[in-house]
Amino acid sequence: MKIGIPREMAQGETRVALIPAHVSALVRQNHEILVERGAGTGASFGDEEYENSGARIVDGPESLYGSAELLFKVNAPAQHAALGRHEGELVREGGVYIGFLSPMLNGDAVRILASRKVTAFSMEYIPRITRAQGMDALSSMATIAGYKAVLLAAERLPKMFPLLMTAAGTVPPANVFVLGAGVAGLQAIATAKRLGARVEAFDPRPAVKEQVKSLGASFVEMEMPEDAETAGGYAKMQSEEFIRKEMEAISSRLPKVDVVITTAQVFGMRAPLLITGEMVKLLRRGSIIVDLAAEQGGNCELTEAGAAVEKEGVTIIGAVNLPATVPVHASQMYGKNVLDLFYLAFPKGATSPDMEDEVVKGACLTHGGEVVNERVRQILAEGAMEK
Ligand code: NAD
Repeated sequence: MKIGIPREMAQGETRVALIPAHVSALVRQNHEILVERGAGTGASFGDEEYENSGARIVDGPESLYGSAELLFKVNAPAQHAALGRHEGELVREGGVYIGFLSPMLNGDAVRILASRKVTAFSMEYIPRITRAQGMDALSSMATIAGYKAVLLAAERLPKMFPLLMTAAGTVPPANVFVLGAGVAGLQAIATAKRLGARVEAFDPRPAVKEQVKSLGASFVEMEMPEDAETAGGYAKMQSEEFIRKEMEAISSRLPKVDVVITTAQVFGMRAPLLITGEMVKLLRRGSIIVDLAAEQGGNCELTEAGAAVEKEGVTIIGAVNLPATVPVHASQMYGKNVLDLFYLAFPKGATSPDMEDEVVKGACLTHGGEVVNERVRQILAEGAMEK
């Protein structure tokens, strides 16, 4: 197949969908790889590294999009500022597009891809099942975000993380509270522990308690909901009554903590609001909140996505696209995820995807001129969160 790797256009994006090592693997299987000039620069991979791996460097997006049968991309197609055209319109008719499509935010892109009969796979829609773990780009990126969130907090906190016993006295460890212990939360716990902090966490899914404890953190005990998760392992949106009790439990912890990392999310919905502006006042001056749910509306009422704001002496960081701040490993992990999907969807030289496979089918949003995912069809019909 003729495979294209465009340069990402989204503001602040540094990742690239495949790194040179991935290109070598594809070339060994007789695929032809086209890389847009400068595609890897943000992630420290030069054009010459791609060339040495067997790719051909192409100038500008138009010729790349026009000739590639399949595109590996990080972000959804968007309006291309320099060209004054939508990237989706450049994708070859009947081609294949693999990337994070975020259909709630990019309804226009999904519609354009469908109208061009593109087979589009969205990495957020890979089913979270054991067989698909190698393709789970949400987990890869959440791992990086959880790690980086703690480093951001440590950078800003006017204290150290570890317990130190020195001739100048004893420095107690920082207290870190992690709300939501999915993939990002667990990595945040592990990172904060490595830095020597005292860590506690909460998540309404019962299975999480043991995972939190196994990382050496304590689990904040509160009444657990009866029906916490979907069959797919995701959290359900909790009742107002549960959230009210949860906020009470959080409020009782806040006066004692230095750093709060919030990661609570419910797939496809606005993130639950767990820390109000009033609750922020319970934190000591100098404390830090890193809100990893900022792009989904935020777990803290005062969060501003993409900004760090100071309220009552507390800094609230509305973290956005943290994986782009670690682009080498983010691109390496993401590339492995999209390649695994590619190998599954197009086994042994196939040029059309194996739509019988549940993972391939689950990740496919548009095919044959239609939006084939029912939930996404609904989202588009409702016009939810259109740009
Ligand atoms: P996510 O990003 O959707 O949510 C983050 C966390 O927020 C979750 O742990 C969720 O329980 C929590 N949350 C939701 N409402 C909350 C509330 N009111 N208060 C506090 N926390 C709240 O989740 P994720 O990290 O992408 O994944 C969640 C789970 O999905 C995993 O832990 C696992 O069980 C499952 N999963 C399975 C696989 C697999 O089997 N291959 C892979 C990845 C994830």
